[in-house]
Amino acid sequence: MAIELNKENIAGLIEKAFENHEIKVYYQPKFSAVNSKIMGAEALARWQMSDGVMISPAMFVPLLEELGLIIDLDWYVFREVCRFIADERKAGGKVVTVSSNFSRFHAREADFTKKLSEIADEYNVPRKYLEVEITESALAFEGVDIIDFVSSIKDAGFAISIDDFGSGLSSLNFVKDVPASELKIDKSLLSHNCENEKERIVLEAIFEFAHRLNMTTVAEGVETKEQLGFLRTCGCELIQGYLFAKPMPEEDFRNILLQSEKTTETEDILLVQSPATASQLLLDAVFTEYPLVIMSNLSRNSFYMMAYENFSTRSCPSTGVYTELIVHGASTMYPDDQKLFSDTFDIDDQIKAYERGERTRRVVTRQLGDDGIYRKVETTNYYMKNPNSDDILAITLSHAVE
Ligand code: C2E
Ligand code: MG
Ligand code: MG
Repeated sequence: MAIELNKENIAGLIEKAFENHEIKVYYQPKFSAVNSKIMGAEALARWQMSDGVMISPAMFVPLLEELGLIIDLDWYVFREVCRFIADERKAGGKVVTVSSNFSRFHAREADFTKKLSEIADEYNVPRKYLEVEITESALAFEGVDIIDFVSSIKDAGFAISIDDFGSGLSSLNFVKDVPASELKIDKSLLSHNCENEKERIVLEAIFEFAHRLNMTTVAEGVETKEQLGFLRTCGCELIQGYLFAKPMPEEDFRNILLQSEKTTETEDILLVQSPATASQLLLDAVFTEYPLVIMSNLSRNSFYMMAYENFSTRSCPSTGVYTELIVHGASTMYPDDQKLFSDTFDIDDQIKAYERGERTRRVVTRQLGDDGIYRKVETTNYYMKNPNSDDILAITLSHAVE
């Protein structure tokens, strides 16, 4: 590099860089983990110095952040992204959602969302094509109500992605409250090539957590087939990494989009499925038939509800003490059926029945619906032992029969 960037010279240099179009936006595609199709992309800044040398953001982003100049870079990149998408739309090319990185300092910027909307409108780009990436470090940014900040972006119609999840001190509690649609798993979590047992346990837990919060997951920095294989078993939806594609100039990205448009063969999901997608399909099928599914540990008197659609007027906790759940369930039944319900699902009676060899138990009772009408409800329990602890478990499937 001809010029060494430092705190003293960067302010002047970046201003000139904007004027001279030395800041380039590279695009790194995000691919479907299931069928390898391009589903989106991330915009990444590059600085092409006047001597042609290309500088990576690691060299200038931290300096710009320190001097408060990062805001200008982010808006510059966002404008470029809007211009690119607008061009693609005009040319009738394939368009995918592109995410742009926004430093946490924007959370202190007045009218951030207004400005975002104005730029999108100026280029006439529908908001569904634009996504805002904020790093998990922004979630703990002092003096800012980050939930308000993110909510306003979401309410304006933009998608939000939490970047670098797992790289720092992210509070899971925060993530659960931030209305983001996407969680990007940091590449540092894949550093043992997904071959280390502890690494796999952590990843599995993160994917489970994200999916239960209805977030789409993106794995960043995927470089190997081993990583891809394991991520598929976790149900990871999107893959961003050198294994598929490196960040590339706009022109190359446009060509890749064009190519992907031409490949029309549709892949059979059952040929490319992972165990996780198969389990999800199975669960979806079960929930269609049984809106209420409960997993219970009879030995420990606990339960956990997997799907709950208002079965009764009185709302029920989704996890807690099994005997209390039965009391609650009985109270929503037709008075003549309450004893039948309580006796059928008596915890001690069920455990004894299991020891005698009973493996399933079914009862039909009349339950009060939201509309004040009693309906017949069939509840079936399936019993099994927890292979890890010998506890007796019950899986309850419940549905209205008329
Ligand atoms: P990021 O947002 O987490 O972007 C992903 C980084 O991972 C990119 O680095 C990308 O090139 C790299 N990467 C992707 N796949 C792989 C892989 O398979 N292996 C490895 N080793 N790396 C991979 P890049 O482009 O150098 O950007 C670094 C960081 O700089 C970005 O991390 C982002 O935090 C920041 N950055 C880049 N552009 C902007 C920008 O316009 N605004 C702001 N605020 N930050 C930006
Ligand atoms: Mg990013
Ligand atoms: Mg990242």
